[in-house]
Amino acid sequence: MGLHWGLNPLRYLVPEDILSHIESTQVDPHVPTSDNDRLPMINGQTGDMIIEIKSSKFYRLRRDKFRRMLMGGIDIRWGKKITNVSYSDDKLTVTAKFEDGTSDTGSILVATDGPHSKVRTLLVGEEAAKVTPIDFASTMCFTQHTREHALYLRAKPHNPLYQVAPHPEGCCAWLSLHDGDDKEHPENWTFFHYISFPEPREEINTRSNREHIAHQKAMARKFVDPWRSVFEWMPDDMDVWYSKLRNWDPSLPEHAWDNRAGRVTLAGDAAHPMTFQRGQGLNHALQDSFTVCKAIEEFWGSRDEGEAALIQKRTDALASYEAEMKARAGEEVRLSGENSLAMHDWSLLSKSPSLTKGMILSRTCIRCAALSFRAKKAVAY
Ligand SMILES: Cc1cc2nc3c(=O)[nH]c(=O)nc-3n(C[C@H](O)[C@H](O)[C@H](O)COP(=O)(O)OP(=O)(O)OC[C@H]3O[C@@H](n4cnc5c(N)ncnc54)[C@H](O)[C@@H]3O)c2cc1C
Repeated sequence: MGLHWGLNPLRYLVPEDILSHIESTQVDPHVPTSDNDRLPMINGQTGDMIIEIKSSKFYRLRRDKFRRMLMGGIDIRWGKKITNVSYSDDKLTVTAKFEDGTSDTGSILVATDGPHSKVRTLLVGEEAAKVTPIDFASTMCFTQHTREHALYLRAKPHNPLYQVAPHPEGCCAWLSLHDGDDKEHPENWTFFHYISFPEPREEINTRSNREHIAHQKAMARKFVDPWRSVFEWMPDDMDVWYSKLRNWDPSLPEHAWDNRAGRVTLAGDAAHPMTFQRGQGLNHALQDSFTVCKAIEEFWGSRDEGEAALIQKRTDALASYEAEMKARAGEEVRLSGENSLAMHDWSLLSKSPSLTKGMILSRTCIRCAALSFRAKKAVAY
């Protein structure tokens, strides 16, 4: 995942002695990230550079290592699958119920259970909680190669870490290093690549694993290297992950939920799953964490003023969080959807948010984020 503007909210949330390890959580911990590293967008047919996508400092993180870094000092109960939520009549507490029959009660439940969130379903109902497919799909591939091939994939003129390539014929390829920990053994490196392609939202894809790979390889033959080769060199039968591109806009009136006097809310992909070509989901999830943290600071400790004061303060604080999050992330869900469309339509590419705005947060979003909870000092974009 590309971490860029989300570093600012992260700085507020995570002690410096933990955050100082961020470089080690990158896909290649041996290559320090410079202030000027940017994601190159290449013409997939010719290999010409289209643009280096505008962003702030761009870290390429590996999910498992980043998660491990953030876990330091935190009491995590593993294997707890949330199945239901209940609320006390006095408006003071919320109880999360888990599949293993246990439960946990507290003042607030911030559900971050991902794009197919169970809590979202409980809050808005089965139908309204469903993600909305758009007319594109992709097949994610993680591959290892011979030493010679692995070195070739990272050698000039290719970018050693990441690159994206829209193709004039309407598909879009990605290639990045996924795991370069074993510096001396390129044969142990893992690469991550996919080609996303048009597929009507109502179409049910019945390809087998093998057929998904054959389909990716066929599309890759239209591309220049490194895409053509990385797909050609992958085995014909291995596990790959096909998925339709989907999103869910939390700002739509039909997606509104009752937060039960500020006792339950959604954050991250649970609140706003979005398409990934603009590289924003993680960054918005971090901004949510920041804003929700400021909301908790607003009411935490107010029990001394009486239960009614606590309930009121929590209600107000969560209303502010949700207003900011829905405006900011709702806009991003729409921008990312627009961007996915443009990345698969050559005539729209030059107007795509990736080209015109880069990965930078839009002005409206910055305003939302900065105004919420008078956070101007804590988050400087
Ligand atoms: C191919 C791809 C590339 C991407 N690239 C970028 C990028 O460059 N930059 C960027 O900002 N974003 C990117 N994203 C998006 C980013 O990965 C997500 O936005 C981010 O991971 C969201 O984090 P999350 O914690 O909200 O959800 P998740 O990472 O999905 O985590 C949800 C967690 O909830 C758990 N869970 C699920 N159901 C339950 C349940 N019932 N009870 C308890 N736990 C449950 C899951 O096991 C999981 O651990 C990309 C996504 C994809 C798919």
